[in-house]
Amino acid sequence: MKKHTLSFLFILTSFYSFAFEGMWIPSVLNAAFDDMKANGLKLSKEEIYSINNTSLKDGIVIFGGGCTGEMVSNEGLMFTNHHCGFDNIQYHSSVKNDYLKNGFWAMNREQELACPGLTATFVIEMRDVTDEVLLGMEGVEEKDRAAKMKDLLSAIAKREKAEKKCDGFVRGFNYNTQFFLVLTKTYTDVRLVGAPPSCIGKFGGDTDNWVWPRHTGDFSVFRIYANDKNEPAEYSAANKPFKPAHHFPISLKGVKEGDFTMVYGFPGRTEHLLTSAGVAYNHEQLAPMRIDFREKNLEVINAAMKSSDELRIKYASKQSNVANAYKKWQGQELGLNKFNAIQLKKEEEAKWLEIAKLSNKELEYSNLLSSIDKLYKDYYGVNIAAAAYAEFVFNGPEVFQLYQDFNEIRVQGGQLKKGNQWEGKMKEFLETAKAFYKDYDLETDKKRFVAMSSMFEQFTKGVIHFEHPKLSREAAADLWFKQSMVADSAVFLGMIRSFSKDTFVKMSGKSKKYAKRLSAEYLYVQAIALNDYYNNTLVPSKREFNTKHDQLMEKYVFLLEEMRGKKEKWCDANSTLRLTYGRVEGSAPVDGMAYTPFTTGQGILDKNSTGNPDFEINDRLKMLLQNKEFGSYGVNGTLPVCFTGSNHTTGGNSGSPALNGNGEWIGINFDRTWESTMSDLYFNSEICRNVMTDARYVLWVIDIYAGAGHLLNEMTILR
Ligand code: ASP
Repeated sequence: MKKHTLSFLFILTSFYSFAFEGMWIPSVLNAAFDDMKANGLKLSKEEIYSINNTSLKDGIVIFGGGCTGEMVSNEGLMFTNHHCGFDNIQYHSSVKNDYLKNGFWAMNREQELACPGLTATFVIEMRDVTDEVLLGMEGVEEKDRAAKMKDLLSAIAKREKAEKKCDGFVRGFNYNTQFFLVLTKTYTDVRLVGAPPSCIGKFGGDTDNWVWPRHTGDFSVFRIYANDKNEPAEYSAANKPFKPAHHFPISLKGVKEGDFTMVYGFPGRTEHLLTSAGVAYNHEQLAPMRIDFREKNLEVINAAMKSSDELRIKYASKQSNVANAYKKWQGQELGLNKFNAIQLKKEEEAKWLEIAKLSNKELEYSNLLSSIDKLYKDYYGVNIAAAAYAEFVFNGPEVFQLYQDFNEIRVQGGQLKKGNQWEGKMKEFLETAKAFYKDYDLETDKKRFVAMSSMFEQFTKGVIHFEHPKLSREAAADLWFKQSMVADSAVFLGMIRSFSKDTFVKMSGKSKKYAKRLSAEYLYVQAIALNDYYNNTLVPSKREFNTKHDQLMEKYVFLLEEMRGKKEKWCDANSTLRLTYGRVEGSAPVDGMAYTPFTTGQGILDKNSTGNPDFEINDRLKMLLQNKEFGSYGVNGTLPVCFTGSNHTTGGNSGSPALNGNGEWIGINFDRTWESTMSDLYFNSEICRNVMTDARYVLWVIDIYAGAGHLLNEMTILR
């Protein structure tokens, strides 16, 4: 027995001695808080998160769909990453006003640009409701669990939202082994205030993305507006700058190697609890397939963007989305290979099996593992096909999605009433289609189709096949795209306008003609076939897999918890508010190579002189750096640009404030190093580093490079 206890302890410590691993829930900090204190945190729990007093959380938002932003003045000024603001910067850009290339700075409030659809969401409260949910689920039969759970979570959220008069939801954490209520407030008038040119905000482009050493000024500036009660309001010229409860003081005192740092934001998704079968599926099957698709996709987009300024602007945002994950997955693959992550997982599982034996749970444990393993095998075909569909239809040629969106309304046509309901839908779709054409090029789309379609077909087991009886794929694509209504925006928009007047049930002569043309059109017919395949085959099977997987994982995680005892654990990222902490530090990721944690302006000039177009800079930046015009932001004749730390971050943490032990803003998180991209599945604290732009570079760009020093007057700057 004694021997057992010793080995048990050894196993536990070796599992949980990973320094700085974890994305902590700020409302329930326990052991992590003590460790933060021991590492240099100067704040109390209440100062980090409180529902009674102002705390750091009141200065942090979910920016748009999936990034983080933070308040930096008491007049609604907000920082996020350049890559997070990219869609909105691009939205306002044209060949004439090329804000992507030249940057944009509002020199007064009137010049700030409204960003339709952009939101900023604050967290009001994040409360553990696990006990209530588990109680509510007691005795519910397996077959009814999913539906009952859904109802229960929404009933709790509904009750709390009504009481607190705000938005919110209840979400399961770590495969529904814990539950949190999250109450939120969303502001909908968010305006663009400033963006550096891409040669600063995207310096290094795809060459440097996910790579250290890094020299990117990855920030942009927005402002939240509110009504005269400081409450959310739709855009109106009468709105006033929002007054946040907290804004971050900006420290220009700098950081040294070893200093405590924390990153507070909304990490999107990690999967650190996956079993070896889950890691193997992701690593050996899913990622290689996605990388292949994206390679083909990017070849076309990159060539188009090089061919003209117009296409460069149109495809800038789409390119970034496709390229970002493409490169990340490659880094992830390298890291998982290098550390033999599947083997590590298997060894971990073998150790847990030993522990399970101590409480006679080994059969339960190994049965769960083999059921999960079998599930991945049984559903391999559908999982991989669904992922291929996402690559092809959601990230590839855009014509299909446009037609599918249109068709969805068409199908609803019979149910929607003519008048407000119908016209509202069609009006909305007309705007969607106009926005689509702003950034669409038929020739590029066709080439994306040609590049990706054969590969996609292979995953559909013959269900989807693009075939012309006589022509090659290229020649057929020429014909199909040319003949489609999408080819001519006037025709496509004309069709929508015509259907706005009629419903699909009662059609006038003009609409009848459009309907006839549509039903004979190859791409439209294929768009519908794709949609049917997705809705009738992929979605139901994928849902089935997810339900079964999550149910098994729920049992698996509960069992681990039981064996592990009360030790504080972290929950996988799921786009909720988290705090992660570490130190300013470099790493030695490869034998014979060490990364120092800081970069300076000199590195920008050095990279620029290589001639790689990703390192092109404009004359002004070059002149200022060469002449060392660093103002008060320089340190011993250098300009700090970026730094790395051992904070455990992921996508969604983009734009998160990087803070020192006093909760002062020392920079903005934007990336991870190449060797760290594996951290979504496997975190290694020796290697994994997040990348932040230094506060001094951000303010130097605003003040000295852009001459927008008036913005600094609003900020609280600690020198
Ligand atoms: N650069 C990342 C992103 O695109 C941030 C990260 O994953 O570390 O969201």
